[in-house]
Amino acid sequence: MDLGLNGKWALVCAASKGLGKGCAQALVAEGVNVVITARGEAALRATADELRASNGAVQVRVVVGDITSPDGRAAALAAAPQIDILVNNAGGPPPGDFRDWDREVWIRAVDANMLTPIELMKATVDAMAARGFGRVVNITSGAVKAPIDTLGLSNGARSGLTGFVAGLARQPALASRNVTINNLLPGFFDTDRIRSTMAAAASKSGKSLDAMLDVRRGSIPARRLGTAQEFGAACAFLCSAQASYITGQNWLLDGGAFPGTF
Ligand code: NAD
Repeated sequence: MDLGLNGKWALVCAASKGLGKGCAQALVAEGVNVVITARGEAALRATADELRASNGAVQVRVVVGDITSPDGRAAALAAAPQIDILVNNAGGPPPGDFRDWDREVWIRAVDANMLTPIELMKATVDAMAARGFGRVVNITSGAVKAPIDTLGLSNGARSGLTGFVAGLARQPALASRNVTINNLLPGFFDTDRIRSTMAAAASKSGKSLDAMLDVRRGSIPARRLGTAQEFGAACAFLCSAQASYITGQNWLLDGGAFPGTF
């Protein structure tokens, strides 16, 4: 299926690895020019080289910086001639116990996983509406639908973003101008973050990482973790011309792990 995205420009945040990279790969395969960001320059440049090798017809620009900082966002926004597609992503907050979190810890989580995507939407959606095309995909978490006890910072900050997006996506000034805003909620995807989080949990519990991964797979009806490529494909579809009537939605990608009917 041709997704009708050839020649568009996307800003894909936090995209040197994992789910952000999967989204950039899927968009580049559809002929989308991309700006990708990350804090670590070497991994970001390596990913940019891979993307260029996969489709020589697109432009791939890199912006090294922290997307949760005003400077990082300004540099990312300035790198594309226009932004037709915005994929919001950043590292997730650390696990822990809420009794140990002070105001500063909370502010960092809210800044990264709620206010940063809101700032980037604020900077882009009105111009998208003026041009009559825009797609925003926010990478959130399955924790928005089924909270994870040790990830209270993520449960809270991402739920704030989800509530905000529910209202913004339904503004006629955006929805009637072919600007859609949706959230993708990953369950368990095989990325560096999941492996490092699980390795830490494994060493705490005295189990091996493989044993931990087996337990995790056993809790998922699909009996496996998701791949960044699958995640990217869902993102590309939400960005497609065909998806223009889908807005304000929360898509859970979890191999059937969430046990509810809806
Ligand atoms: P990852 O660690 O594999 O990749 C994260 C990417 O983001 C890297 O490219 C890193 O350089 C970049 N990055 C992190 N913080 C950044 C910042 N402040 N500015 C710029 N770049 C930054 O992680 P992932 O598994 O792809 O996760 C992506 C997001 O999805 C995270 O917020 C994570 O909490 C969330 N999530 C992931 C899963 C999963 O199963 N992988 C599940 C639920 C939620």
